Amino acid sequence: MTDIIVVGGGPAGMTAALYARRNNKTVLVLEKNGFGGQITYSPKVENIPGNLQISGNEFAEKFLDQVLAQGAEIDFAAVTGLTKTAEGFTVHTDSGDYESRAVILATGVKHRMLGLEGENELVGRGISFCAVCDGEFYRDRTVVVAGGGNSALQEAILLTENCKEVVMVQDLDFFTGEKKSQETLFSRPNVRAITGTTLKALRVEDGKLTGVVTEKTATGERSTIPCDGLFVAIGLIPENGAFADLAALNDYGYFDSGEDCLTQTEGLFVAGDCRSKSLRQVVTAAADGAMAAVAACRYLE
Ligand SMILES: Cc1cc2nc3c(=O)[nH]c(=O)nc-3n(C[C@H](O)[C@H](O)[C@H](O)COP(=O)(O)OP(=O)(O)OC[C@H]3O[C@@H](n4cnc5c(N)ncnc54)[C@H](O)[C@@H]3O)c2cc1C
Repeated sequence: MTDIIVVGGGPAGMTAALYARRNNKTVLVLEKNGFGGQITYSPKVENIPGNLQISGNEFAEKFLDQVLAQGAEIDFAAVTGLTKTAEGFTVHTDSGDYESRAVILATGVKHRMLGLEGENELVGRGISFCAVCDGEFYRDRTVVVAGGGNSALQEAILLTENCKEVVMVQDLDFFTGEKKSQETLFSRPNVRAITGTTLKALRVEDGKLTGVVTEKTATGERSTIPCDGLFVAIGLIPENGAFADLAALNDYGYFDSGEDCLTQTEGLFVAGDCRSKSLRQVVTAAADGAMAAVAACRYLE
């Protein structure tokens, strides 16, 4: 039986594996897509300590090498559920069951997409989800922000600091985010709001985003907004439903857990973007991975 099974091979899960191995625990990391998680969508990352600039893929490869060098086991499998047993847990996957004494869930989040043709290919090459991560790449340029909730407003406020113009495109006739954030944002000279409008298509030249096509819901009138970047802030999708009976979720579907990464189930820990938190970044995910692993090791000892 493995000491600790980590579900998810993103920065949180891989850090958890690293710390658990440093404590001499046997570790298996189960990943359903590709090791590295969301950061592999970013070709240019500039806020990982110790790296002036690194691509998400290179970072993921180095990280995986480090985890394997420390002796962690890895496998590709989608975890579909957990059962608490007398000895620990049975981890159910699409390719069979695994047994472990403790489990760390590091399942991350998915960004809700607009569903436009060519959108996936442009992620990290004109389409972004994170002003903290990518805002600097659009200094003195024009960007469109899709969305009108709190995240969209926060992203836009940050972008107004450096961008030439920030164009907010919201499908409803009003913004749904906090009034205070709206006041802050719309008091800035370089922001323009377009409401009651949906994004219909992306304009691309030589593989680069050059604009977005919008459509007024009321009239069907279409127009093009030339831009260098599109920030999509229409929500995050946590994928935690399968574990809700053992790790409580908050109203938004995130694990309802604090910095200690504990859940209501003994031996079950959560780490990274999948849990309730205010900043979702590589460093905060990694910090959680370390916390969860150390807590799991203490529990096993
Ligand atoms: C385009 C883009 C650019 C970004 N740029 C930056 C940046 O510049 N700097 C920065 O700090 N952060 C950046 N981020 C955010 C950063 O990538 C995340 O905060 C970080 O990856 C979170 O790590 P995580 O391990 O918690 O989750 P994730 O990275 O989401 O990893 C979770 C992993 O779990 C796997 N998984 C989920 N469910 C299951 C299951 N049931 N079974 C098996 N595996 C499962 C997923 O496939 C995934 O690989 C960016 C994000 C995106 C999308």
